[in-house]
Parts: sequence; C-alpha cells; structure tokens
Amino acid sequence: MPCRTKAGKTRRRFPDPLMDHMKHLAPLAGAIDSHCHLAFTAARGVPVNDILTRCFGTGMSAVLDIAVTADDIAERLKLTHGFPHVVHSVGVHPAEAARADAAGVSTILRDAAATCPSVVAIGETGLDWYRGRRNAAAQYALFEAQLQLACELDLPLIIHNRDAADDILALLRTSLPPRGGIMHCYSAHPDYVAEFVDLGFALSFAGNLTFPRAEETRQAAVAVPQEWLLVETDSPFLAPVPARGRPNHPGYIGHTYRALAALRRQPLDELTRHVAQNFARLFPSAPLAPARFDAG
Ligand SMILES: [Zn+2]
Repeated sequence: MPCRTKAGKTRRRFPDPLMDHMKHLAPLAGAIDSHCHLAFTAARGVPVNDILTRCFGTGMSAVLDIAVTADDIAERLKLTHGFPHVVHSVGVHPAEAARADAAGVSTILRDAAATCPSVVAIGETGLDWYRGRRNAAAQYALFEAQLQLACELDLPLIIHNRDAADDILALLRTSLPPRGGIMHCYSAHPDYVAEFVDLGFALSFAGNLTFPRAEETRQAAVAVPQEWLLVETDSPFLAPVPARGRPNHPGYIGHTYRALAALRRQPLDELTRHVAQNFARLFPSAPLAPARFDAG
C-alpha cells in the first residue's frame, strides 16, 4: 500500500518477506520434519535460514532434507550449513526420470553418501503413475538402482508413490532394503498401510492431511500403528490449513501434528514423542536436538 512521506512524496511499502512467511507459523517443540526440500523452499522465496533458526530455537528436534537430483547435495549442504539437526538424503526423484542416467546415478550417489556425514537415507525415489505411465521404463530403472543402493549402503529408502502402490510393493518384495524406509506423503488407500508396515516402512503424513477432500488419507493416518508413524511438510509443497496455498516450510509442521493428534485422539506431546522415537529408530545416526516437548 503506498504511503505519503513528510515531503509529500509517495513511497511504496513492501511487505517484510520474513514476517510474511512467519504468518501462521506453528513450530512445535520436539517435532520432526521427516521430508522437505529446502533448496526448492528457498527458491520459492522462503528465508530458510531464518525459519530453521526459529524452528530449532523453539525446540524442533530434526529436519530431513530430501534430494531431487543426483547433483543437488552441494547446494543443499551449503544452505543448511550451521544446522546440525538437519540431515540429508541423496537420490533422484521419479520426475527426473527422463533426464537422469540410471546407470551413472549409483556412482554419484554412492560417492555423495560416502563423503557427506549428514547423509542418512537414499531417495526420494519411487514410481509416479499420476499422469499415466510416462517414462515407465526410466522410472523403473532409477527406482531399481536406488533400491539396490539402499541395500548395498544399508540405508533407509525414501519412497514417492503416486497411484503405484502395487508396483512398488512388488519391487520391494523382490529386493527389500534391510533398514526399511519411509512411504512419504502417504496418500494410498488405507488397505495398503499394513502391507508397507509389514515390509518395515514407516508412513509419513503431510499437510494434505488437513485438506477437506483427504478423507481417505485421514483414514490411513488413523490406521497406522503408532511405532510406524511420521510427519513431514514436503516443503515447499502442500502447506497445511491454515497456511494452504502459501510456500510451505518446516515452521508450519505444528498444524499437521495437531491435526494428526486430533484424528488419532492422542495427546499432542505423546504423538510428538512417538514420532521422534520412530525417526531415531530409522536414522540412528541423525543427531536429534534435545527434546523439549510442547503439550500445547
Ligand atoms: Zn518430496
């Protein structure tokens, strides 16, 4: 909104970008963000450093920053430098299948995992049939390469599934990573919950849990055994209500925790503690900030 200076000149008032992203902020003591893309989040104009400072300052336990391409790790390490409770994955997203060279990917990811102590997982990888079986062969090749790498490096696998639960289960049954992993942004039918859990995969719920039409996802969230439950933002995507439509960031995680606690009729501090324990079990080398649970 323009305003008038004493000299009578018109000066335009720009919104403070940090204040704008602090609106609807809901950091939560003891919380884990098990899946976010902080480089994408920064590219959407979110002051990631300020948000992480605020989150960890209010007692957040850990953030897992997720890879999209084979060569994005250097930029992501730079962005999160100085935050010891941010850990990383290395991997290639199925949306990159047309551009990625599955044969070369394993070498790049193996080197990255070996040289970066904060790398605790492989992914995100998986299959995405949302727009049909586009690049199906390339998606399979990438997924299989990362599945093998998770087995070889003894690391959990972060899986992206869109309309491909049966195909993903079939692949996992032929080659199961010993450390299991995470079905991220779970949105498959509740009937699949037990099948993924039986294979050692935790189910992580994102802000879409709060969307009016996500009834099936809410049913799945209630069906997950407590020791296999995780929470994520998937920043910068899927900001939860009431921040829906804004670029998402880890500071909004509290909205999803509160929605999940209400759905499961569970005290928030109990849910927060269980999620942190589940994360620590999956990623024993991840340094969690000392827990300061928030019962609010
Ligand atoms: Zn993701």
